[in-house]
Amino acid sequence: MKIAFFDTKPYDIPAFRKYGADYGIDFKFYETKLNTDTVELAKGFDGVCAFVNDTVNAEVIDRLYDTGVNVLALRCAGFNNVDMKHAFGRLHVLRVPAYSPYAVAEHTMALLLTSVRRIHKAYIRSRDFNFSLSGLTGFDLYGKTVGVIGTGRIGKVFIDICKGFGMKVLAYDKFPDKGIEADGNVKYTELDELFAKSDIISLHCPLTEETYHMIDENALKKCKKGIVILNTSRGALVDAEALLAGIKSRKVGAACLDVYEEESDLFFEDNSGHILEDDTLARLISMPNVIVSSHQAFLTEEALENIAETTVKNLSEFFEKGQCSNELCFRTDETVDCKNGKCF
Ligand code: NAD
Repeated sequence: MKIAFFDTKPYDIPAFRKYGADYGIDFKFYETKLNTDTVELAKGFDGVCAFVNDTVNAEVIDRLYDTGVNVLALRCAGFNNVDMKHAFGRLHVLRVPAYSPYAVAEHTMALLLTSVRRIHKAYIRSRDFNFSLSGLTGFDLYGKTVGVIGTGRIGKVFIDICKGFGMKVLAYDKFPDKGIEADGNVKYTELDELFAKSDIISLHCPLTEETYHMIDENALKKCKKGIVILNTSRGALVDAEALLAGIKSRKVGAACLDVYEEESDLFFEDNSGHILEDDTLARLISMPNVIVSSHQAFLTEEALENIAETTVKNLSEFFEKGQCSNELCFRTDETVDCKNGKCF
């Protein structure tokens, strides 16, 4: 089977070649992203493989359908870049529901520690033999309250890490898993209470119409002064303009962003020789209390192996049986994993 693989990075290739050879799947690696300009490259293939910043809108779906491509294998968990309503009945959408929640949760804590202990400043100073400590005062995480929004796979691992630091955890989820309250260190609350009582807020829910800009001007107003915002989930969960205003007004004490709402044309690429057109991102990056990483949280050896293995197994299962247990289905107002066989 031949699969057109979009938005290829050098670190993708070894594991996909290895698992592809094991399962008889031949990948054609394109550096370009999948979008309306590049969709023709999928012609003649049995399927396409896409990542978080490929654009799978209605036009791309229709053109894939017209060229006879009926399966899209996402090599990620999130699917906010796919028009699921339009895909239903035209395109089978497979995904990797979990590959390493530890990768993302550990990166979130790495960002938090870097920020609150000013490691990003200390690293640059000591490389210049500047051993002054002025301005590097941090604060203990022990005893602080962290608000975790989204207590799925990644949120739960992040909660465990926070508990290890002796932090108190407030949690919010549309579908709470009450079991995590058992040891008395985690308490589910309403969003407003989480905003009002947290010293740090970490986002681990998907981007949907409901969660779009859940951290906006109104939410920030409800937070404590000095709130630290962590976003390793999806950029548009945070209204970047409102965050910037919160930082300028000193309401927001720090922000750690692995994702950004307008990241798709910038992240994963070397833009160091270009003039950055996005003034909001440029201003955020210029702030001493903002750390931006480039959608890097997933990037561990373990995660890359798991992503390649699951993606290849998803495709192999689909080609063999015409269905896949990791297929996404669109039903009325929500998208769900299809566990019961053929989705359409
Ligand atoms: P998951 O599906 O296991 O958990 C998501 C949780 O969010 C679930 O418990 C769900 O009930 C909850 N949720 C859904 N709608 C909600 C709402 N409106 N309000 C509050 N909670 C809501 O997903 P996961 O594997 O833990 O991943 C979480 C997110 O992390 C993904 O959606 C993805 O966007 C992001 N992610 C980022 C990276 C990265 O590299 N930065 C990598 C993987 C995943």
